[in-house]
Amino acid sequence: MILVYIEQADKKIKKHSLEALTLAAQLAEALQSKVAAIVIGEVDNPEITAQYGADTTYLVSTTESDLLDTAARTKVWKKLVEHTGGSIVILPHSAGGKAIAGRLSVALQADVLSAVSQFVGLDGEKLLFKRPVFAGKGIATCAIQASRAVVTLLRNAISPQKREKPYRAQTIAISDVQPTVQLLQRQKTQGKVPLPEAEIVVSGGRGLKGPENWHLIEELADVLGAATACSRPVADAGWRPHSEHVGQTGITISPNLYIAIGISGAIQHLAGVNNSKTIVVINKDPEAPFFKAADYGIVGDLFEVVPKLIEALKRYKEKQ
Ligand SMILES: Cc1cc2nc3c(=O)[nH]c(=O)nc-3n(C[C@H](O)[C@H](O)[C@H](O)COP(=O)(O)OP(=O)(O)OC[C@H]3O[C@@H](n4cnc5c(N)ncnc54)[C@H](O)[C@@H]3O)c2cc1C
Repeated sequence: MILVYIEQADKKIKKHSLEALTLAAQLAEALQSKVAAIVIGEVDNPEITAQYGADTTYLVSTTESDLLDTAARTKVWKKLVEHTGGSIVILPHSAGGKAIAGRLSVALQADVLSAVSQFVGLDGEKLLFKRPVFAGKGIATCAIQASRAVVTLLRNAISPQKREKPYRAQTIAISDVQPTVQLLQRQKTQGKVPLPEAEIVVSGGRGLKGPENWHLIEELADVLGAATACSRPVADAGWRPHSEHVGQTGITISPNLYIAIGISGAIQHLAGVNNSKTIVVINKDPEAPFFKAADYGIVGDLFEVVPKLIEALKRYKEKQ
């Protein structure tokens, strides 16, 4: 049995979880096994899990505090594995998934492999996965034992594929977890689209010259329905909050589209955005290193290019 952690926000199942179900279905096919979706807490539409290949959906009732406490969440997962007889656990490579992957592998005496991007196939008793290494400069093929494994899946690495299975749900109550962390207050970060989950990200660097020009980033993000991000010096200077800083020392993202405006493309910045599907760079310096990592590049002054881009996108949207 392959267990998949179905992450949710505001009772909505995240797209990333459908990607994880798709990976699980590929593994199940290779191993002649079944897929179980693990939904912790309440969600609006748990039946989606069956549409993406879950043979069984386990609805786990537990408190929000249990989810915050990494040690308690690991205990919940260990109990789930024992209850279902699961052999492989697929977690999202998100803050929540990463936090428990190591602990869970120790608790289960399982192999662990983080940030996989592709299932290659079986090699005897081993599962082969691809994962990016050296800040995305290389791809490693790694082998882990198929009998017991914990895997975290990179966001946007796999396209969700429908499989349309009948929806079969089972409710499980997990007790005796004893969380040591209590939720006292919840504060949402600014911005309309949460950065780690955004499909499109518009990001600005020191080329913006100052916070007074940030409306260009925000207007472009608005018209694209994107989240906003920034380079580290921009956050260090206090132009933007640190929750928007991407890179080696900030958040790692892998959106479908990353638009970098006035950012040089230092290796430490690229480390956080290299896994984006498509990268567009706007920079006035044709020698800016970011162009080497870009799928599309515009050499030009951002103060001329970005307003034109916003206007063109608005016109395009009006015509749709
Ligand atoms: C240990 C360590 C960790 C780090 N971690 C991170 C990290 O996590 N994230 C991160 O971002 N950085 C990180 N850095 C910093 C990193 O090395 C770079 O200094 C930083 O990314 C540069 O930010 P920038 O591109 O915004 O600024 P700059 O390097 O100053 O680049 C500005 C760019 O804007 C362009 N530009 C200027 N004016 C215009 C205009 N009018 N129109 C168009 N283009 C224009 C310039 O040509 C230039 O390419 C780290 C550094 C160290 C040493």
